[in-house]
Amino acid sequence: MEAQTIMVAVVAGLQGVADRIGIAARAAQRDPGSVGLVAVSKTFPASLIRAAFDAGQRDFGENYLQEALAKIEALTDLPLIWHFIGPIQSNKTRAIAENFAWVHSVDRLRIAERLSDQRPPHLPPLAVCLQVNISGEPSKSGAAVADAAALAVAVAALPGLRLRGLMAMPAATADPNLQRAAFRRLRELRDAVNAAGGLPTPLDTLSMGMSDDLESAIAEGATLVRVGRGIFGARG
Ligand SMILES: *Cc1c(COP(=O)(O)O)cnc(C)c1O
Repeated sequence: MEAQTIMVAVVAGLQGVADRIGIAARAAQRDPGSVGLVAVSKTFPASLIRAAFDAGQRDFGENYLQEALAKIEALTDLPLIWHFIGPIQSNKTRAIAENFAWVHSVDRLRIAERLSDQRPPHLPPLAVCLQVNISGEPSKSGAAVADAAALAVAVAALPGLRLRGLMAMPAATADPNLQRAAFRRLRELRDAVNAAGGLPTPLDTLSMGMSDDLESAIAEGATLVRVGRGIFGARG
């Protein structure tokens, strides 16, 4: 596509998602400004990220480390905020700790300890969310609900990290009631972890909601939605 056409499509995609966020937030009596947008750019080229930046978007999410590093390298001239949202293998933690501002997919202490140890001292602590397997699907990544509170206390004590909240990717369903039920469980878990005490600061972040279910997530308290296709179009 020609640069001009790409720009027009990305601006329209971002505007469409911003409109959806605004409508959903107002319907829930929430300030639309309380819902942040992470533009999930996995599989999309750096040129689209640049177009989204020009349209005002700052936060971008990537799942695959090698792909992300190539784009981060290509876009170092822009003040972007990079979020790692994919599964984390131990041999990838150093590059993640060095190149990202946020990690949404921490699901075990060993990975959190490595990220903390490997976070360069000249950077602010790495913001992290604990990914929780909120639908209890055996095949899905994420900490078990029953383990979340203890994991939160342990992760919050690591000096290179700043624990911000919880993240989930519930089982896919088109039923808004089932979508909301899963997101509500994550919110209630966040509230229970905060109420249990033991954290230096309460969890303030719920990273939940994607292209097909962001309205349900916002109704249940999402503070960060992670949207790819809704902005950039279908992935090839
Ligand atoms: C791909 C992905 C998203 C965005 O999904 P879309 O359906 O493109 O909006 C959000 N979060 C995670 C963890 C993802 O892997």
